[in-house]
Amino acid sequence: MYVNILIDRSNSKLNKTFSYKVPAQLECKVEIGKRVLVPFGVKNKPEDGYIIEKLQHVNIEYQIKEIIDVIDGFPLFDLKTLKLVDFIKEKYMCNMIDAINIIIPGGVKNVTAESNTEKYLNIKVSKDDIDSFITKNESKEKYKAQIQVLNYLRENSIVKASDLKDDLKVTDSPIKTLIKNELIEVSRQDKKLDIYKVLKDKSKDFVLNNEQIVAVEKIKEKIYAKKFSEILIFGVTSSGKTEVYIEAIKEVIKQGRQAIVLVPEIALTPQIVRRFKQHFGEYIVVMHSKLSDTEKYNQLNKIKKKEVSVMVGPRSAIFAPFDDVGIIVIDEEHESTYKSENTPKYDAKEVAKFICESNNAVLLYGSATPSIDTYYRAEKGEIELIKLNKRVNEAKNPTIHIVDMKEELKNGNTTIISREVHKQIQDKLNKNEQILVFINRRGFSTFVSCRKCGYVMKCDNCDVPYVYHYDTDTLACHHCGKSIRNVNMCPECNSKYIKFFGLGTEKVEDDIQGLFKNARILRMDADTTSKKNSHDNILTDFNEGNADILIGTQMIAKGHDFRNVTLVVILAADMSLNIQDFRAYERAFQLFTQVAGRAGRSGKDSIVYIQTYEEKNYVLECIKNYDYERFYENEIMLREQLENPPFSNICIITLVGENEKKIIIYINGLKKYLEYYNIKGNYKILGPAPNFIKKMNDNYRWRLVIKGTDEEKLKSFVKYSINKFNEKENVKDLKIQIDMN
Ligand code: ADP
Ligand code: ZN
Ligand code: ZN
Repeated sequence: MYVNILIDRSNSKLNKTFSYKVPAQLECKVEIGKRVLVPFGVKNKPEDGYIIEKLQHVNIEYQIKEIIDVIDGFPLFDLKTLKLVDFIKEKYMCNMIDAINIIIPGGVKNVTAESNTEKYLNIKVSKDDIDSFITKNESKEKYKAQIQVLNYLRENSIVKASDLKDDLKVTDSPIKTLIKNELIEVSRQDKKLDIYKVLKDKSKDFVLNNEQIVAVEKIKEKIYAKKFSEILIFGVTSSGKTEVYIEAIKEVIKQGRQAIVLVPEIALTPQIVRRFKQHFGEYIVVMHSKLSDTEKYNQLNKIKKKEVSVMVGPRSAIFAPFDDVGIIVIDEEHESTYKSENTPKYDAKEVAKFICESNNAVLLYGSATPSIDTYYRAEKGEIELIKLNKRVNEAKNPTIHIVDMKEELKNGNTTIISREVHKQIQDKLNKNEQILVFINRRGFSTFVSCRKCGYVMKCDNCDVPYVYHYDTDTLACHHCGKSIRNVNMCPECNSKYIKFFGLGTEKVEDDIQGLFKNARILRMDADTTSKKNSHDNILTDFNEGNADILIGTQMIAKGHDFRNVTLVVILAADMSLNIQDFRAYERAFQLFTQVAGRAGRSGKDSIVYIQTYEEKNYVLECIKNYDYERFYENEIMLREQLENPPFSNICIITLVGENEKKIIIYINGLKKYLEYYNIKGNYKILGPAPNFIKKMNDNYRWRLVIKGTDEEKLKSFVKYSINKFNEKENVKDLKIQIDMN
């Protein structure tokens, strides 16, 4: 027998399989998806590799080497997974091993299977035997724990040993004694899913409204058709989308199929997880980044053993190894967290589509502010659109006001909050109502604007705001690479109030505390939430009324149900509008709408202020009027004019290396290759320009931006040019990263 092996090392030269012979004594252990130890290279160094294929014959002239050993007792993936691996490898232009390694979570492969099988306990003898054992020993202290265990097992039939120990606070010792005396036994057999138990109506204290019923019916139809289809639920915040997901998932479970629910970030969405748990109880697994390897392993094992049928988690949960996924729900589908920041830069939405296509499953997107790409596809009829227009409980949308900060300066107000907002904060403090203050976190780049007339310094080639660089006091365009000296006078109104824009949460906290001496303030940002559970603690604190004002970044925007918030203040909206990214307006629309939605959850009158120097910006006007459609129309027009997605595909090639001079030489070299092979001029090649964060971990990063209409052609063009460049130039000491769209 022979096998084809993929070496477990990320290296483009090893991006293919190698054939090995299997010694007779190992043949019975060989399976696709297991790791093996093989001698590799001229020195025959032992390396780990995955079995990708089993073969009876090979046509190889040279002497074939033998595998040394089979590492795993169980395969880590199967043929179906390999199809997904192929998809990822092609789509994101990565090495096959990188694709495998994102599907099988890091440490999981190093946990041994046996030590983690759940132990279940049950009573081995008759009821009478137990009774007499208990009566005989009841009064003896020595038997106390054993009797406790027996009583527990009598009430609960078969239970997990770990649960029993937790509940009774007993050690292993009484359990061991009972096993030894053959009164109870350990079983490792699979605990099969009890579908009836899942669907047994967990009583709700409300009935679905008409819009929700219609939505559920439409989705059911698709589920029963057992064909691939995509549906977008476009429903305002609090329109009851989550309830619709739950009903849809129940239908899928009835068919004996499974469901994956993706949420943007587990830590920020405890409420949605709680609600899924209420409905699906122990038949749900929740994945998140804070789980240990063993915990992750256990979760995946539950899936493999078919003990669970719903997975809730962030983007990586898309790789849950269910064998018959019937529905994938992507909540808040517009969130950028669905796209991975690490190579391979996969997009969980695209992966979900692939999985649903291969499983004839339903792909359900939900959002109050759909992404432009998704809505565009819905408009074209590729995705079925379902609207939920009403908020449940007849809750009113808060009124939104735009505050022109130029007016404040004119009137001598130089504090960070406007006079109107000042009055409102005081009013809410008096009434014991709560206030949310939002500020966009900008970690890196910042722009330059005029506080008197609102003028923003922009690149005249690209019409995007320049990024201000402190170190050189220059303004740079990260699209086309243009760079100019910073200005100290406004080109529009000649005022000297032109300077870079930046405001941090800490400064906001200090200033607001200064203005409202007695207010109790909480702050939620990357600094205050680095510890485990600190998100939850801050939110609970605020919800319990232990503070009046919560100041925070993007983190406070997510689905939290703040009951007593009646005032939301968005500071420095300009920081969100002037990001150098063609999606900046889209993101701002989504973010502000979401933040505004935190107010008035309990039905009390509530109010939102957006402070800005661009009070006429159409994005803000659309937010104010809750007019997604108008925003979409404007935005899609701009995208078409500027040839941005969805009308084109954008490929970003980043060169990373320690020596910046070399990187610049190489990237200019690579650009020449791209230009040379761009024979028909189908592709726009922009740059080179430094990345937003130019230096990271002692590496410099420069990039080229390539635009083209056909994704496949663009990819092969880029791949071909890079290969030629690699072949012909002596490229050393740098990494080339490719990111699509
Ligand atoms: P969304 O996901 O659209 O923001 P949710 O599904 O979270 O909305 O619903 C918001 C709140 O309203 C939740 O607390 C939910 O339990 C409740 N809810 C949902 N549907 C109804 C209904 N038909 N009647 C009353 N309350 C509902
Ligand atoms: Zn000006
Ligand atoms: Zn430019």
